[in-house]
Order: sequence, then C-alpha cells, then structure tokens
Amino acid sequence: MKKHHIRYDERHTMFSRARLKPGTKPYQDFYQTHPHLKKGDDALRGMDFMQNIRKSQTFKDTFLPLIDNDDNLIKAYHKITEEKPVSKQQKPIDKTQIKALLKSFGAVDSGIVRLQEHHYYSHHGGVNDVLNLDNYGHAIKARYRSAIVYLVSMDEKAMRRAPHFEEMLETKNGYHAVANIGTRLTLYLKALGYPTLLQSEAFHLTPLVPLAYDSGMGEIGMSNHIIHPQYGDRIRLGAVLTDLDLTPDQPIDFGLEAFCAQCGLCLINCPNQAIKHKKRWVNNRQFYQFDEQSCFKMFKTSGTDCGICIQSCPFSYHIDAALIAKMKDDEKSIDHVIKNHLHHHGRRPRIKEPLDIVKGEKDHENKH
Ligand code: SF4
Ligand code: SF4
Repeated sequence: MKKHHIRYDERHTMFSRARLKPGTKPYQDFYQTHPHLKKGDDALRGMDFMQNIRKSQTFKDTFLPLIDNDDNLIKAYHKITEEKPVSKQQKPIDKTQIKALLKSFGAVDSGIVRLQEHHYYSHHGGVNDVLNLDNYGHAIKARYRSAIVYLVSMDEKAMRRAPHFEEMLETKNGYHAVANIGTRLTLYLKALGYPTLLQSEAFHLTPLVPLAYDSGMGEIGMSNHIIHPQYGDRIRLGAVLTDLDLTPDQPIDFGLEAFCAQCGLCLINCPNQAIKHKKRWVNNRQFYQFDEQSCFKMFKTSGTDCGICIQSCPFSYHIDAALIAKMKDDEKSIDHVIKNHLHHHGRRPRIKEPLDIVKGEKDHENKH
C-alpha cells in the first residue's frame, strides 16, 4: 500500500454511528476519539426512519409492508451464496464474458478493479444487523484479487418523485436488483472454482464509490456520488469480490469536474445544505466536502432516503453522448447541456403527481 493511501473505516460511516447505543463500550470509545460528532449524532440516533414518513397511518399500513421482508430476502441471498461450495477444478472465464453475463442479468454497465489493501474498509462498523453478525470493530483483511463492479439504473419516473415513497421503493428495488445479480454471479464463479463473496446493502468489505471510480463506472460528482456518463447517479452500485484474476479497467474522465463547477444543481436543491462545493482528496480521488449529519437528518424527517440530489443531476436524464464527448475540451458544450437541461426540466425535475401505486394518497404533509 502506498504511504499516502488510507483505508476507510466503516465505523466512521453515518449508518454505523446511528446504530451505536449510548452506554455501550463501542459508543464510549467512538465519541472519546470523535467528540465533535457526538451531539449531532445523538440527535439522529436509530435506523427506523421509514416510520417517520409524513403520511397518514392508512398509507403506512398499506405501503410499508412492501418493504417488510426486504431484510429476509437479502439474508437469503447471503445464505445461498455462503452455502455454495467452491468447485475444486477451476475453469477459465474472461472479462468480456463476465461483462456480457452481467448485462444479461440486468446490469447496465460493469468494470473491474484489481484489489489493493486500501480498497477494503479497515474495520467493520456493525451495520450487518440484517445478517445477525456481531462484528463491530473487527479488523478486515484484504482477501480477494478482483472486484467485479456493476450497476443497475433506477426508474426515472420514480426518482422524479423524490423525496417521496416512490423514490424509497425504487431505491429498494435497486438494492434488490444489485443483490440478485451479485448472487447469481457469485454462485456462478464459485461453480467455476473461484472463491467469491457477495456484497449487498447488508454487508460490505469495500466501500463502493472508490471501487466504482477505479473501475471506470463514472466520475465523482459534487454530490459525492458516482456520476455515470449515461445514467448519472440514477443508479445503484454493486460489487462482488473474487479470486478470479481479471484485467482491470481504468478510471474515466469525461470533464465532470468542470461541469459540476458550472452546474451545482444538487447543491442548490439539497434541502439540508449537506452538499458543499469545496473539494477534498482521498487516495488520489477527488471528492467534495459533505455534511453527512445534515443529509441523514433529511432521512429522519422525510422518512425516506431523500434522493433529491439524484433527481437534480442533469446526467440522470440521458445527455446526448456526442455532447458529452465534446465537454472535456469545450466549455461551451457544458453551457449548452446545462441550458438545455434547465429549459426542459427546470432547476429541479420534480413531478408532484404520484405514481399509480400510491395514487389517491394525500401528499400535503410533505413540503419538499
Ligand atoms: S439525499 Fe437529500 S439531504 Fe442528502 S445530500 Fe442528497 S439532496 Fe441532500
Ligand atoms: S447535479 Fe450537477 S453539480 Fe451535482 S453532481 Fe450532478 S453534474 Fe455535478
């Protein structure tokens, strides 16, 4: 590992911190070393934010059962992949075949990373409650050769309803699609003789954004999301880790940094000012400063995972590929794309009319 490379620690993520229970040793240890986060985190503690959705009890009784069994489904995926033995004899398969396979499974793009130690979290953050794993603070060892990164696209109509229930349901759909694809790929690679690990929303050894960046799935936008040139951040990312040796892909540069500097729509539309324009660098990748407490506060108050930043990004609305190709060397193309986007969608491409599944339900309680 190069000297300037750091490893992310899953215990530092908002989802790990929100689960810490006051009075426990992990809680005391964490806030002893991070006292500046304690007050803000204490105000946001707990992960049961979906019950806070600003809807009637009838709405909650009717629609929240849609996601009741999600955890069990994800758990089943992990169980199936863990129980599958790795075949003794290895059979060859190459990157092109894997990518074609992922496409047939429903992924819209995929890329390969040759894993290094810095791609792994240093420690588990105890966010694996779905799998009944008690691994908070356990060190993570670098174990696999390659990450196969892939993405699915989320439905535009649903994301235009962000931050309402349709967005949350579509996000869940994305997580399930990613876990389903990952399960099928993991089972297949194990059958071909390669130890392979499924990752899902319930279990990660590696943060996904750095992997997606390194595998050429997009650049990191002002929202700190991966922005794919064709799908923007209207995507869900997945990655399985495997011993199969594959030729790695490379990061791409389609001029997003200059585009974000002129656009800023995610920052402007973020209801809690969580997105900042100031840049920061981690392991030679450019990110932007971000106030994760403010973002998570929106989850807690809206009862969904918001998604207004995803809804705001012009790249989430299929920009013409020829224009994207010109962007890097010609700032006028950026102007053109932004003006065109504003002309067609306005500052925020929100649609207030609910989708069929929740039609008839009043939305007046939610002001965003
Ligand atoms: S999810 Fe919502 S609150 Fe969080 S950064 Fe995006 S727009 Fe802001
Ligand atoms: S909305 Fe604009 S500023 Fe934000 S990530 Fe997308 S292109 Fe960049």
